[in-house]
Amino acid sequence: MSLTPSHIIQYLYCPRFTYFEYVLGIPQFEEKDFKVKKGREVHDNKLEQNKEYLRRRIGAVYKLQDQYLTNNSIRGQVDEVLTLNDGTMAPLDYKFAEYKDRIYETYFTQLKCYAWLIRDNFGKEVEKGYLVYVRSNNKLIEVALDKGAVEDVKKAAKEIYRIIGLNYYPKATKYKARCLNCTYRNICVK
Ligand code: SF4
Repeated sequence: MSLTPSHIIQYLYCPRFTYFEYVLGIPQFEEKDFKVKKGREVHDNKLEQNKEYLRRRIGAVYKLQDQYLTNNSIRGQVDEVLTLNDGTMAPLDYKFAEYKDRIYETYFTQLKCYAWLIRDNFGKEVEKGYLVYVRSNNKLIEVALDKGAVEDVKKAAKEIYRIIGLNYYPKATKYKARCLNCTYRNICVK
């Protein structure tokens, strides 16, 4: 089994999601909440025109689009893999969303996964990633991705494999508010 950013996002929300869904095989009906929305109007003309402008602003010297990348642990499709003028690389992802003055943890986790994949596939350093919020006039947000950020998702992937491989029942999330509307709340032993 290879993991996707969605598996990592679910695990980070609550490790028991991994156990209930992938060890016991009980589907999550609210799964849609964790699906990372893709920018469906990526083909929109205005956005196409803006893309070159955005890349110039970033200092990208080369771009690869729609890259499906894998390594030994995870897989994912990156909208753009950019080579920057300092020789590092960066993932760029379009979001069909408005920017609400903060970066959602799900988006951040997704970029961390992409940074890991880019490092493993291209052997280049990744120090930052970019989000483009299509519904906020293509607002460009730069996100710092240090080595620690990638270690976070590596650790999560290792734990997911441990839970699935050993049928191990993990600790509950420490954020109790998350339990209130959880699909699994009636079967989850606290
Ligand atoms: S009820 Fe709480 S601890 Fe149990 S799976 Fe849901 S979020 Fe996690």
